[in-house]
Amino acid sequence: MQINKEELKKSLVNLIRLTSTSLPDDVVDSIKTAVQKEDEGSAAKNALTMILKNIEMAKEQSTPICQDTGTNIYYVSKPVGIPSRDLESLIKEATTIATEKSYLRPNTVHAITGRNPGDNSGIMTPYIHIEEWDQDALEFKLMLKGGGCENVSDQYKLPDTKLKAGRDLNGVYKVIIDAVNNAQGLGCAPGIIGVGIGGDRATSTIVAKQQLFRKNHDTNPLPELAELENKLCKNINELGIGPMGFGGKTTVFAFKIGHLHRLPASFFVSIAYMCWAHRRHTLTVKNGEYTYD
Ligand code: SF4
Repeated sequence: MQINKEELKKSLVNLIRLTSTSLPDDVVDSIKTAVQKEDEGSAAKNALTMILKNIEMAKEQSTPICQDTGTNIYYVSKPVGIPSRDLESLIKEATTIATEKSYLRPNTVHAITGRNPGDNSGIMTPYIHIEEWDQDALEFKLMLKGGGCENVSDQYKLPDTKLKAGRDLNGVYKVIIDAVNNAQGLGCAPGIIGVGIGGDRATSTIVAKQQLFRKNHDTNPLPELAELENKLCKNINELGIGPMGFGGKTTVFAFKIGHLHRLPASFFVSIAYMCWAHRRHTLTVKNGEYTYD
């Protein structure tokens, strides 16, 4: 596969614009369904209605959905023969251009000095994960993850004696409930919760975030996890925390749980909390065509 670097860079800028200014259809559908469930005149219904108006205006005017354009997280799949370094450079150049065009707020600062380079550049910024696949196509998945919801993301180590959570799915259930309960009123609910079970501290968080690329309405291929996702969604929404913590019927749109092998000595459960502004889109390049989802 050959790539036209200038064409690809332009398309990556467009991917960033699309992701910053519009939500995917499945997320918008979840918000519309939530509005219908809330009582007329309730704070929850008003909050969700405002959110929907905000989404429509941002899309019409091509302006960011939220002032916090968040951490830029890429998962890239590439065929053999295209150097990863080229793709990383193109993503970084596209990020600078998108910042100049105000699709992204200049959001990154040096961890020690606090200095803002002004173009969203920096160490491991954007975060880019690249892997090779057998297809003769390129795929760029982009997610913009806000700081408010990242701050209420969490990680647990089982067993957790305080929560009486053991090393099984019941223990996993207990710590997830605890994390969402702790997040109430923060993190801009309703949200989507990605969970990673197993691995080490780093990889379980990576898997938790990867889950956030799944569609809201999909079904986990593992029946035990599908059952847990549904049970969590039903039970959390019955707590009445509601949109933005105002009380109401929808606190969470979906749970998405992944797993990976672990050491016998460790049992981590990582929880990636994503706010209602769940900005994720995909660019695919195949046979010279550029398509967005
Ligand atoms: S948590 Fe999400 S909706 Fe709230 S301010 Fe951050 S990006 Fe915006």
